[in-house]
Amino acid sequence: MSRLVLLGPPGAGKGTQAKELAGSLGIPAISTGDIFRANVSEGTQLGRMAQRFMDAGEYVPDEVTNAMVRDRLAAPDAADGFLLDGYPRTVAQVEELDSMLGEHGQGLDAVIELTVDTDEVVKRLLKRAEIEGRPDDTEPVIRRRLEVYFEQTAPLTQLYDSRGLLRRVDGMGDVADVTKRLLAALHG
Ligand code: ADP
Repeated sequence: MSRLVLLGPPGAGKGTQAKELAGSLGIPAISTGDIFRANVSEGTQLGRMAQRFMDAGEYVPDEVTNAMVRDRLAAPDAADGFLLDGYPRTVAQVEELDSMLGEHGQGLDAVIELTVDTDEVVKRLLKRAEIEGRPDDTEPVIRRRLEVYFEQTAPLTQLYDSRGLLRRVDGMGDVADVTKRLLAALHG
């Protein structure tokens, strides 16, 4: 299990769990959200472009996101595996990822969906807003992010399920318990 995707709504705990999992599997966790935020804080052209979309809770255009991921996956540390957090989020991104991997005769080993209930994720995101002050953690933007997720990204779970790659993991409860469930789902 070395080429993995972690799916789940904003606030599901993907970032936290991606780091835990990647650490124990010895592969890099690649978060498109983190890469975009790093670009925003460095004031790069990519960051300036992405920021308007992020601040509105919209997805950054596929061409931009795909090019960024293609670059990142070409880095030597991703040669033997990776855990993607926050990518793919659209059907077009799924197709692009397929071709990025296919060019090297590779494919995904598993796609994990972290499930949580919507009330809980809104609560978590509002709490994170108080602590971290992320500009897209305001209530109207959180609502929009969830809407976009359910419209554009939730359908990817069916797509991956039909390929026999999907594993669903309950994301409610303690961080450590969720990590255990994730590792069990990957090894089982
Ligand atoms: P969230 O908690 O909303 O899932 P992320 O940190 O993963 O937050 O992403 C923050 C923002 O970065 C998204 O709302 C979106 O604007 C942008 N982004 C991240 N990944 C993608 C992607 N695969 N495609 C398009 N936009 C993305």
